[in-house]
Amino acid sequence: MTKTDSEYKNYRELRLILGEQLNAGHSWYQTKDESVLYVIAELKQEQEYVVHHVQKIQSFFSAMNQFADALSKAGHNVLYLTLDDTSDYENLPDLLAHLLTRYQCQQFSYQQPDEYRLANQLAEFCTRLSGEASQSELSQLGLSKLSKKVTWQCVETEHFCLSHAELSQYFQAEKHHRMEAFYRKLRKRFNILMLGDEPEGGQWNYDQDNRNKLKPSDIQDIPQPLLMSNDVSDINERLSRHGIKYLGEAQQQLIWPVNRQQALSLLEFFCQHCLPFFGRFQDAMTCQANDVLSDRQWSLYHSRLSFALNSKMISPHKVIDAAINAYRASNGEISLAQVEGFVRQILGWREFVRGIYWANMPNYHQLNALKAEQALPSWFWTADTKMNCLHHAIKQSLDYAYAHHIQRLMVTGNFCMIAGIDPDEVDAWYLGIYVDALEWVELPNTRGMSQFADGGIVGSKPYAASGNYIDKMSDYCKHCHYKVKEKLGDNACPLNSLYWDFMIRHREKFGNNPRLAFTYRNWDKQSPQQQNAVLDKAQTLLQNLSSL
Ligand code: FAD
Ligand code: SF4
Repeated sequence: MTKTDSEYKNYRELRLILGEQLNAGHSWYQTKDESVLYVIAELKQEQEYVVHHVQKIQSFFSAMNQFADALSKAGHNVLYLTLDDTSDYENLPDLLAHLLTRYQCQQFSYQQPDEYRLANQLAEFCTRLSGEASQSELSQLGLSKLSKKVTWQCVETEHFCLSHAELSQYFQAEKHHRMEAFYRKLRKRFNILMLGDEPEGGQWNYDQDNRNKLKPSDIQDIPQPLLMSNDVSDINERLSRHGIKYLGEAQQQLIWPVNRQQALSLLEFFCQHCLPFFGRFQDAMTCQANDVLSDRQWSLYHSRLSFALNSKMISPHKVIDAAINAYRASNGEISLAQVEGFVRQILGWREFVRGIYWANMPNYHQLNALKAEQALPSWFWTADTKMNCLHHAIKQSLDYAYAHHIQRLMVTGNFCMIAGIDPDEVDAWYLGIYVDALEWVELPNTRGMSQFADGGIVGSKPYAASGNYIDKMSDYCKHCHYKVKEKLGDNACPLNSLYWDFMIRHREKFGNNPRLAFTYRNWDKQSPQQQNAVLDKAQTLLQNLSSL
């Protein structure tokens, strides 16, 4: 804030835009109002609640900056505050109190934050604004100098398919909801891939067709991903000036989309080059692509649109419509299974986990149904492990702030769950490392889907797997120090004994689950000697996780 006092004019209303609220289609911007000031601010509090990957910080700051520029060019009054401007303020309420006083505003407006932490902070701030605070509380917040009482308003972000207000019609706290039933309701409600009341093609779900492994001959066909080249050198300088701690190496060029145009090009690229194979290979993993083609083939047929979506540069309806239009125009080149698989991720999973989050917060944050207490091994921060699957998924996450769903769920997530890692540590890792990580979507996916720490609110059974699953879906095992077919011995795949140890450790909880009956029958067929040997092996591993 380098203006001198004489340069300030007063504004009737201050509207806050958070970094995750870059929705250019919001009704706020449909009319220009000289008496409104929009504020977008880089905040230290947002850099410090967890250690983020540097590409995540760069992406948010760049996108916020470009959004501010676009609003300003469209004729709105915008104040963009960098870390240099906001570093003297302890937190967001402290900054807001200062700005409301400085500009003598009569109204404060904000969009409903996606994260409970920010929603709570702003709701508390507004309670004080509305005069329920004592004079001393107001002066602590710097609000006592306001000449008039400030009214406030919280509005919808107008981004998701379901509004915030509607979520409680679909979700209740602690209830075991199932994604498939929810997804079907939304398909009907928004008339997406429907023929009357029936799903197009006669089936709701093509998951069975979407489980292919990449064969060596498929590798050459993987498209070279479209990567952006955004200069972030000024952001890097600010991060170092303010001593912000981060994960990963700070490069000068950022590959992630940071404005609507770039988000739309990535969407177009996806529809053209990746959608035809999206469903088929959505669970596949490979380390060969990197060796054979270049080090840029990590994204396979995934869209990499999660940051553009979560920052709201692009809307879920826009993405779904583009994919369906591409399918209809493709003359059969894109099958229904591919497009349905993609729509399910966005209309289904993305909206579903948001509903679970809001129905269950703040308690969800502390759930630890399996009483997991092990520390996260230090190699999660370096990728320095002999387990090739984990090495590859973590290295890729450190290099690109990205891993695709199955790497997150069945490689890193599965390891943490079967090794009994404390879900607080698991959450902090996921929330920090991924470019798209915001708590509303990270928490139900991590604590719920991947760790079963919510006791089954998200999933009907734990996503636990031995090395066999990784071998089925990837080429990781062929290049691993460990032997995937072995359970015992120094070179046995650690996931094999850890898997059984997990299943037996929690037999009381899962033993009556019909979906796991086959697994327990298999275990019971083994001799007590075999069983003991596997459980002993797992205990040795659990005591030495950091050296795996
Ligand atoms: P694609 O594979 O191309 O899928 C398209 C879109 O569907 C994604 O961009 C995303 O918006 C949506 N989507 C797909 N799966 C999910 C899901 N399970 N939940 C919500 N949306 C989904 N996603 C995040 O956006 N932020 C997170 O912090 C996050 N943390 C996760 C943690 C764990 C342990 C797991 C298992 C999954 C997590 N996901 C998270 C979901 C998913 O892994 C990512 O959305 C996806 O990998 C992003 O890559 P993409 O854009 O290429 O996705
Ligand atoms: Fe992972 Fe085991 Fe396969 Fe190695 S052998 S890549 S540790 S599943």
